[in-house]
Amino acid sequence: MTAPEPTFPPTQAPQPTTGGRQGYLRIATEEAFATPEILKLWLGLLDDPTFDDPGFRSLWSFYGTATAERPRFVLQSLQDLGEGRLAAMDKAGIDRAILSLTSPGAQPLRKDIAKQQATLANDQLAQACKRHPDRFSGLTAVAPQDPEYSAREIERGKNELGFHGVIINSHTQGEYLDDPKFWPIFEAAQALDTPIYLHPNTAPKNFIQPMLEAGLDGAIWGFAVETGTHLLRLITKGVFDRFPRLKMVVGHLGEALPFWMYRLDYMHGATVRSGRYEAMKPIECRPSEYLKRNVWVTTSGMAWAPAIMFCRDVLGPDRVLYAMDYPYEYLVDEVRWQDDLPLTTAEKKQFYQTNAETVFGLPKGDA
Ligand code: MN
Repeated sequence: MTAPEPTFPPTQAPQPTTGGRQGYLRIATEEAFATPEILKLWLGLLDDPTFDDPGFRSLWSFYGTATAERPRFVLQSLQDLGEGRLAAMDKAGIDRAILSLTSPGAQPLRKDIAKQQATLANDQLAQACKRHPDRFSGLTAVAPQDPEYSAREIERGKNELGFHGVIINSHTQGEYLDDPKFWPIFEAAQALDTPIYLHPNTAPKNFIQPMLEAGLDGAIWGFAVETGTHLLRLITKGVFDRFPRLKMVVGHLGEALPFWMYRLDYMHGATVRSGRYEAMKPIECRPSEYLKRNVWVTTSGMAWAPAIMFCRDVLGPDRVLYAMDYPYEYLVDEVRWQDDLPLTTAEKKQFYQTNAETVFGLPKGDA
């Protein structure tokens, strides 16, 4: 028995092209790459019997070693910062890709190795952006294992390498960024006015088992549960009171949190008033207000008009940005469906182009 294929909406939209003839440029904001060096280290972790991260094993034994067509394509395309990637962008009408070191980046590695690998990935990405300045922009990879290093690397990324934000692949070996020991990272990002893209990771081992045993640990569900929980912890633990100008970008239409806004506000208020948890103290705003003040969401892997329109409605049209999630997600028709959103050309320009230019501080495009 084979699984039924999903049904896709009909579209009359033309095949997408680059150059802006439809009235806007398309900027894809969650596009992944990997260095050969870090892939080799990850595959080494799979061979290390003492490495105890079942989510990492589940994800990277698939993408790293499976022989099926899709994981082969992903593994090869992640390492392409040249012609193959540009051809894929051309075919999908993507004018600019904001590139980031794929999950989990340097975060599962030993601290000293993690720092070397983040620095190396940033150097390689900066060279690729320099070779294709009109097509590629970059985000700075960090090693949260060393928050002071990470803060310095964020500054190097912005001021020396020309990057436009920071990529953090959610938890670091089971630790979350609401722990004040990580806050030098937020201090640097806020001071430099550069956004942090909080990208999914597989859940840590004390969180993953019921999802893993049902095959739900990956992009189908587990990523959103883990990363949505991370973002919610940042909100409820008061990170955005301490860093009110911090900008967070979150993929997959906000990892389900926009859909929960009413319940988050209601239950957060009730829980704080109950005094039930030492960890849940009063904060200055309702959870939904931080989502509308400090968070931008992208459409990676969520090319679904009702959900996109809902997020524009409840977060605001300046909060929702286009992303493809190449090479994990590469379906040219997803661009056509988003070209078909019930929006004016000016609104689509905001969605595809100017929101990204504003949040990431990109050079303004011509379309
Ligand atoms: Mn992604």
